[in-house]
Amino acid sequence: MLSSIQPSRRTFLVGAGRFAAASAVAGAMPFSAAAEAVSRPIEASALKDLAGAVRGGVVLPDDPFFGDYARPNNLRFGTLPTAIARCAGEADVQACIAWVKKHGAAFAVRSGGHNYAGFSTTPGLLIDMTPMSSISLLPGGDGLVRIGGGVLNSMVYKALERLNRTITHGRCDTVGAAGFLLGGGIGFNMRWLGMASDLLHATGVVTADGELRSDVRDGGADSDLFWACRGGAGGNFGINTSFTLQTVPVDTVSFFDVTWTADVEAVLHTLLTRLAEAPPEFGSKISVTRPPRGSGNPALTVSILGQLHTCDTTVEAILGPVLETASTATINKDMPYWPAQDLLSEFTYPYFYQEKSSYMKAADITPDAVAAMVRLARLMPGTSMGNSFKFFQVGGKVNVMPADATAYVHRGYDWLFSSEVNWWDRKDPKALVDENLAWQEQFYATVNEATRAKGAFQNFPDPSLKDWSTAYYGNNYSRLRQVKTAYDKSDLFTYRQGIKPL
Ligand SMILES: Cc1cc2nc3c(=O)[nH]c(=O)nc-3n(C[C@H](O)[C@H](O)[C@H](O)COP(=O)(O)OP(=O)(O)OC[C@H]3O[C@@H](n4cnc5c(N)ncnc54)[C@H](O)[C@@H]3O)c2cc1C
Repeated sequence: MLSSIQPSRRTFLVGAGRFAAASAVAGAMPFSAAAEAVSRPIEASALKDLAGAVRGGVVLPDDPFFGDYARPNNLRFGTLPTAIARCAGEADVQACIAWVKKHGAAFAVRSGGHNYAGFSTTPGLLIDMTPMSSISLLPGGDGLVRIGGGVLNSMVYKALERLNRTITHGRCDTVGAAGFLLGGGIGFNMRWLGMASDLLHATGVVTADGELRSDVRDGGADSDLFWACRGGAGGNFGINTSFTLQTVPVDTVSFFDVTWTADVEAVLHTLLTRLAEAPPEFGSKISVTRPPRGSGNPALTVSILGQLHTCDTTVEAILGPVLETASTATINKDMPYWPAQDLLSEFTYPYFYQEKSSYMKAADITPDAVAAMVRLARLMPGTSMGNSFKFFQVGGKVNVMPADATAYVHRGYDWLFSSEVNWWDRKDPKALVDENLAWQEQFYATVNEATRAKGAFQNFPDPSLKDWSTAYYGNNYSRLRQVKTAYDKSDLFTYRQGIKPL
């Protein structure tokens, strides 16, 4: 609860007006979200103190870029902050922690702002980490790279391309490396290299006591905190100011993008069972897509996208005879790694969405289970946007680490399943959105039961998930609570599905 910050009425109205205008252009943020910020006033003098303490600057609603800084990726969660602190270094992060404690202010930490469930939005102080965007190769020749706590994926990709090295990384340029890494981090390299968090060597963290722990690592004084930062999700234990990652050299890959428009059930079942045997150099994502409502083509399509690092087999051999029935197939062999990533990367603008996820073993995916999921998928009411259910291929090196070796617990599976509902508020009436969300609940329950799927990915947080602590963290939740108690007993870093102290 904010105590008494009071931006001048003029300041707030100007800011809200600009934001509302920006939102109108984007067709997005409801004005009521702005009203929430007004009901939690903060004294102007307190804001002045903050501005004096944060070298990177404090952005208020009358700043021309306030709306751009404040907007999260998922527009469902459009609460406006009262102020945005742009942290330029560790001292700024410490100043923010001291300030929110002194004023009892609500706050949230943000890097890329891509949290699915709005956990990096707040009516109080938004601690914006994006100015902390340095990236450097550490001396020593062992490929360790240190990145700042606010770096976006696109910057990591550029830096690694220059080094001709890589990590396990995602596809979306605008996701923040902090949120990505702290929640585990999946990508096409994960079967080859492990989860992104498995590649973490050390991290810097400003904890709730305001202390900068600059070298949190395995075997060090804060090794429990390090364990928790490898999959315990962002926003729980402190503010991570840097990450040191093991990178590896890259060579060539075969890029592939294949789509089927017929025999959806048979193709999907074949892919989900056959590919579990693929070598770890193979990384893929399968999507079953329903086109936008009213597009005149309600048919589902199946597609697979991914890459194969150079090894002793081919994409054709791995996909097998099912490739012959594809309606389109692109297989680009021997592409240099980073140009291939240009074909694999995606750029998304903010919109409205809800995802639900779980983990499956290929052995549990029977023809009947696939038939049930496709049957129900065809009954999705649909929205003005395309909607998919997806299978990110895990396995390989992801499954080498024991489930309790790091906070990322989901080991031993072949697929990470995810069902999305995407919409645009100006085109999709609330009743239709609700109908789709109710369909999604039923779809998720049916698919999970039919395939004995378990858990949920903490990097795809689902605000409607009831038993979220078990779903995200399984047996690791009790140790996570112990770490939380040791570093943040008063639950300063808190959000709806945040790890709670004992
Ligand atoms: C379009 C899109 C594509 C995606 N693709 C992938 C993918 O390929 N692979 C994958 O694994 N995930 C993917 N995700 C999920 C994404 O990794 C998570 O949502 C991630 O948490 C987002 O991180 P962020 O920094 O962008 O988000 P934010 O909303 O800024 O942060 C996420 C959480 O971490 C906290 N946080 C942010 N910065 C810090 C920090 N420096 N220290 C401590 N806590 C912090 C926030 O408070 C929040 O709780 C995708 C999401 C979207 C929307």
